[in-house]
Order: sequence, then structure tokens, then C-alpha cells
Amino acid sequence: MNWLREHTVQNKFNVIIAVILLVLLFGVVNFWFGLKVMSSIRAYVGGEGLWSKAQKDAALSLVTYANSGDEADYQKFQTFLKVNEGDKQARLELAKPAPNYEVARQGFIQGGNSPADVDNLIFLYRDFHWVSYMNTAIHDWTQGDADIAGLVSVGQTMHSVITSPIDTTDPAQVSNRNAKLVALTRQAYSADSRLTMVEDDFSAVLGAGSRSIQNALLMVTMLLTVILGTMAIWIARSVAKIIIQVDQAKTEFVALASHQLRTPATAVQAYATFLKENYEGAALNPRQQEFVREIYRNNQRLLTITDQMLTTIQADSGQSHIVLTPTDLVALATEVAQNLQSVFDERRQRLKLTTPRHLIARVDAEKIHVVLDNLLSNASKYTPAGGNITLVLKSSGSDIVIEVKDSGVGIPKAEQATIFGKFMRATNTLDTEGTGLGLYLVKRMADLHGGSVSVTSTPGKGSSFSVKIPKEHKRTRLSEASYGQSLSG
Ligand code: ADP
Repeated sequence: MNWLREHTVQNKFNVIIAVILLVLLFGVVNFWFGLKVMSSIRAYVGGEGLWSKAQKDAALSLVTYANSGDEADYQKFQTFLKVNEGDKQARLELAKPAPNYEVARQGFIQGGNSPADVDNLIFLYRDFHWVSYMNTAIHDWTQGDADIAGLVSVGQTMHSVITSPIDTTDPAQVSNRNAKLVALTRQAYSADSRLTMVEDDFSAVLGAGSRSIQNALLMVTMLLTVILGTMAIWIARSVAKIIIQVDQAKTEFVALASHQLRTPATAVQAYATFLKENYEGAALNPRQQEFVREIYRNNQRLLTITDQMLTTIQADSGQSHIVLTPTDLVALATEVAQNLQSVFDERRQRLKLTTPRHLIARVDAEKIHVVLDNLLSNASKYTPAGGNITLVLKSSGSDIVIEVKDSGVGIPKAEQATIFGKFMRATNTLDTEGTGLGLYLVKRMADLHGGSVSVTSTPGKGSSFSVKIPKEHKRTRLSEASYGQSLSG
């Protein structure tokens, strides 16, 4: 695992993919090889059938010839044996150290084998003749050829006895020839019985061989399955570990970077605020005042982004726990509104607060602060100068409702459901600066409280965002509430 750690994620995946491909390749080769061997055995079993049939037909023709003395029967005997001779030719050629494969091929084809099977017949003989089953089968085959040679010689003798002229009127000569023919027929029968035994043995040996290969293949397949399965589990675990490590490293990096950026940005903000609020005293000319406003605005944006990034990372990494304390939401909303007053003023927007005098609820004040800040900032950002914004706080049944309405650009209907996703932005607002994290955080904070968010909006007329927070917080899978303890989010 150590060498894996030193490589990039891409390299690690390349190694993993290469290993998987290698095992798969091995599996395919094993499958192909198994099929080839089984198919070769089948070809030999088929060939043996043709060989035996030819031999039996030849023996029968010879016996018939003994009785009929008809030359045509002797021709048949010779023709049938061509099958066995063909196979013998192939066997003898393949037994040579450097065989002529064409001669072997011709032999097998003469033996009645399908040309499509010949390569497999040659393959099994050449590459597996040392395997015990094949070795015994070849031995049987050789024995069979020897018995066929015996049968041929019986046939030849019978042919010479039948074709030798005798005096058929002489009973002694006739009886002598008949006696020879009876003896030769017996020899033919006995050669036939020996061949039957050899043929049976050949088939039995190939059958046993094929069964043992089948078992071996089954074992290899099972082994391969276990290896692949183990590898799959190992790979899945390693990948999961790598992903978690990479994710953690990324989270830590972004958190650290955001934190480190925040400190100097806060200092810049303090000086920019001082200068902005004391233009005249600082005797700045209009151009310099414009610069200060730009520094303030851009730095404010930097602070917003770093805050949103930090809050998102905390929420996503499960570090966000809510701490419920009795909070006056009206006081909280007033504080947030005051913090944003300069923004509203700059855009000549009017913020109207519609709230009861007090609205006390057990909430996580810091997180509700995030909700209010993002909704009000958005309302200002996406409402043209001079527009109206309303913040409503009310109690509704078992919920507290926070509503932020504006007279802004609105959101296209099709995009209203997606804008609460991380980095999601509506297409009609892309020329306004933004990260797409604000509403995501609003939803996350509501979720942590066991609440919900919704939006209604008409493009060109305005939007209304509504956040419902249950007065009595019930623990949900998303929220982990610590009651009455200090803030930890
Ligand atoms: P952003 O940083 O882009 O404002 P948010 O997550 O806060 O990210 O909002 C997501 C998107 O939802 C915005 O980019 C904008 O398209 C749309 N949106 C949010 N609030 C409003 C609003 N009050 N009026 C119109 N569009 C809004």
C-alpha cells in the first residue's frame, strides 16, 4: 500500500484498472482454453465413433465375403478400412518430432472427421499427448491400428484363398478351402472382438479425461471467482479509503485557506470601513473615495465567500451541530438588518420588518443568523436600486416562519427547485456576482433544525422565500442538537 500512496489518484486508478483487466483477461483465456480442450475431446469421441463404425462394417464385409466369395464384398472391406487408415496416417505423422501437419490433416479428413475439427484434433494430440488420459487413449489407438493390420492380413489371406483356382469337382479341395475360410472367419471375429474392447477403452478413457478437465475448469473458475471477488472488495475498500483521504485533505485545505484569508481580509475591512465612514476627515478626493468604496465592496465579497466556504465545509463534513438556546428572533433579525443597512442604503432599497414585538424560540442563533443574512443579502442583490424588501417573522401553528420578499428580478419557474443546490444559480442572474452557496446554506441550516424552505417567484416581479422552523425541535438524521450548551458550529 505504501508505494500506492506515493502516486497520484489517476495513477492509482490506472494500476487498479490494469489489475482488473489482467484478471479478466486471465478469465477469458481460461474460458477459451477450457472450451478448446472440451471441443477437442468431443472431436476425438466423434472420430472414434466413425473409426469403430468403419471397422465393424469392414469386419462384417469380410465375413460376408467369406460366404459369398463376391469380389465386391472384398472391395467394400477395403473401402471401409480407408477410414481407419486415414486416422492411422494422422497418428503416425503427429507422433513425429517435426510432423507435416498437412499430412496429418489429410489423414484425419480421410478418417471422416470434419475439417473444422482437425485443428483441435491436432492440438490435443501435440500439446496433451503427455497427459495420462491422452497417453492411454493414444496407446489404445495404436493397439487398435495393430488389430486392424491383423484384420487386413486376414482379409488378404481370405482373398488369396478365394481367388486361388481349385477343382470344384474335387470334394477334398473344396473341403480344404472351406476349412481355411472358416478358420479365417474365426480370426476375423476374434480381431473384431479385440477391437471392440480397445474401442470401449478408448471411449472410457476420453470420457474420464473430459470429466476431470471439466472438474479442473470448475475449480479454476471458482478460484478465479474468489480471487476476483476478493479483489473487488479490496479495490472497493481501497478506493473508498483514497476518496475519503482525498476528500478530507481537500476539506482541510479549503478550511485552512478560508481561515487564513479571513484574518487579513478582516483587517482590510476595518481600515476600509474607517476610511469610508470618515471620507471628509481623511480629506480624500472623489476618485480616492471611489477607490475606498471599491476596496470595501470587494473585500466584503471576499469575506462573504470565505464565510460561506467555511460554513459549507463545516456543514458538509458533519461538524455542524446545532445548539438550541431560547432566542428572540426579532432581536436577531433586527441585528442582521442593521448590519446590512449600509448595503440597502447604497442601493436605495427600503427594508420593512413585519414582526411581533418578540418571538422567542429555541433555535441555534448562529445558524438562523446565516439564514437571515443570506436571504436578506440575496433580496438586496437581486432587486434593482430603489426596490422594496420585506422581512416577516411570525408564528404559524407549531412553526416559526421567516419570510423574505422582494420586488426584484425573480427566478424562472423551471429553476426554482434547483437553486437550493450547492453552487446552483439561476440563469437570469449570472451577471451578478455570486457563489451559489447562500441558498444551499439556508437549506442546510433549516434542515439541521428539522425545518424546511420554499420559494415562490414571478420573473420580473419579485420573489418570496419562506423558512419554517419547528418550535419544538425533533431530532432528525440531519440534525444533532446539543441542548443548552455553548455554540460549536
Ligand atoms: P448566489 O451567491 O449566486 O447569490 P445563492 O445560493 O444565494 O447564491 O442563490 C442561488 C441563486 O438563486 C442565485 O444565483 C440567484 O440566481 C437565485 N436567487 C437567490 N435569491 C434570489 C432572489 N431574492 N431573487 C432572485 N433570484 C434569487
